[in-house]
Amino acid sequence: MASLFASVEMAPRDPILGLNEQFNADPNPKKVNLGVGVYTDDQGKLPLLKCVAAAEKQMSEAPKARGYLPIDGIVAYDKAVRGLVFGAEHPAVKAGRIATAQAIGGTGGLKLGADFLKRLNPDAQVLISDPSWENHRALFESAGFPVDVYPYYDAANRGIHFDGLIAKLKSSKAGTIVLLHACCHNPTGYDLTDAQWDEVIAVIQAGGLVPFLDMAYQGFGNGIAEDGQVVIKFLESGLSFFVSTSFSKSFSLYGERVGALSIVSESAEESGRVLSQLKRVIRTNYSNPPTHGAQVVATVLNSPELRKMWEDELAEMRDRIKLMRTALVKELSAAGVQGDLSYITRQKGMFSYSGLNAAQMQRLRAEFGVYGVDSGRICVAALNSGNIQGVAAAIKAVM
Ligand code: PLP
Repeated sequence: MASLFASVEMAPRDPILGLNEQFNADPNPKKVNLGVGVYTDDQGKLPLLKCVAAAEKQMSEAPKARGYLPIDGIVAYDKAVRGLVFGAEHPAVKAGRIATAQAIGGTGGLKLGADFLKRLNPDAQVLISDPSWENHRALFESAGFPVDVYPYYDAANRGIHFDGLIAKLKSSKAGTIVLLHACCHNPTGYDLTDAQWDEVIAVIQAGGLVPFLDMAYQGFGNGIAEDGQVVIKFLESGLSFFVSTSFSKSFSLYGERVGALSIVSESAEESGRVLSQLKRVIRTNYSNPPTHGAQVVATVLNSPELRKMWEDELAEMRDRIKLMRTALVKELSAAGVQGDLSYITRQKGMFSYSGLNAAQMQRLRAEFGVYGVDSGRICVAALNSGNIQGVAAAIKAVM
């Protein structure tokens, strides 16, 4: 009899995590990993934030038994996330119109939202930006949705194809789910302006579309409150919408899988019904979330002293990335790269869309041990004073 798994085909490698495996196997001592979206400090180390270490110390000094958490997670965590994302004093928060559930990272928040939406409106279509984080398409497709794209990156002008974006939204059917990057667009680094967000919101509202904001990098663009302004704009519009939150990057807690999903509805009564259904999604997937990471984040966000420490540490990460952007422009110019490089400092967040093509990115890997994604995306947050010159020289060599 044939093996049960005889017909199982080998799945393609995840493009980014596959790159990591290739990086780890590369014996080149000068190799640089600019593929995965992880922040490292100027020594090339993944930081353990001081606020996280302090919270863990507090937690270890008063150890607690690990019972099951409520289905929607730690109450103090959900409340702190709502406060951070929407503002604790915002009337929508005070009115109880926002349901927040702890999730397994930002990915988990997106998947909970996708599964919830599939039950709510099984025939909807999902729109993601072209290009987007690789997992967006796969995640919404695996929740059962057809996924299409709206124009986003404008290669010729090194910016956003805003007219195309608006035209696509205007031609979309009511009920279409529109996934938007709240800040620090991954992979391009180009964010909409305030005025452009206003226009997007007006079109979404006029067309009866369903906004889903992915907030994976709050604090890495212009600041925690500044990056969060987009969410407030949606809140003020009166729309019902979804926000997924990730603390992987902003707390450097990648492996703890700390995130959330918030759903804004029209009333506290509606929100109660929404949360009850969201809990069913959670219960039938993984029952309830894990304790440690969310307890760390709740401890930090709910202590004025630790929160201040976090805000300072996040600012430090943000400022270092900005410094690396300026330094990259300088080093590329010094290496002889011609033309306007100001797009590098205009981009926000961890990534820069370099404009290099797949063949050039492959040469960077093979000849120089510089690992970026074939789309041309490089992680600026992994540049440091020790590797930036070599990276700039390698980029110049493949251009
Ligand atoms: N959304 C975007 C745009 C991301 O870039 C990422 C991570 O890279 C995520 C969501 C997922 O975050 P997490 O690692 O918390 O699941």
